[in-house]
Amino acid sequence: MTKNLSWKIYDDVIESIMALSKSFYPNEFSGMLYAENNVIQDIYIIPKTISNRNNAIIRLDLVPMSLNIIGSVHSHPSGFGKPSIADLNFFSRKYVNIISYFPFSKNCFKVYDNLGHIIDNFEIIFRQK
Ligand SMILES: [Zn+2]
Repeated sequence: MTKNLSWKIYDDVIESIMALSKSFYPNEFSGMLYAENNVIQDIYIIPKTISNRNNAIIRLDLVPMSLNIIGSVHSHPSGFGKPSIADLNFFSRKYVNIISYFPFSKNCFKVYDNLGHIIDNFEIIFRQK
């Protein structure tokens, strides 16, 4: 995967991320991202994910084996979008990693690559009806 790859996400997926982050609050929400042609289309909630205020442990053995699962998403109820050391270790497996943060309004998220660098080339687009 190249470094300067651009990613897009559907507007309704961002809305779902924020809704899920709010519903899990004060615990962390986490899931995986499904993409086609570099457009993030959907979120997969992994069964048996354990979440509390400080982290969410994903059962990687329960993540569907699909090349389209290219990324991760999780919430920071604390209100900071900065990845933890554990986050960075986890990010190294995936190309796109979204952290949503309190208060979970639409622009309360940051996007990181597998090395933990912010992805600037990230665009919100609308699904064609
Ligand atoms: Zn985190």
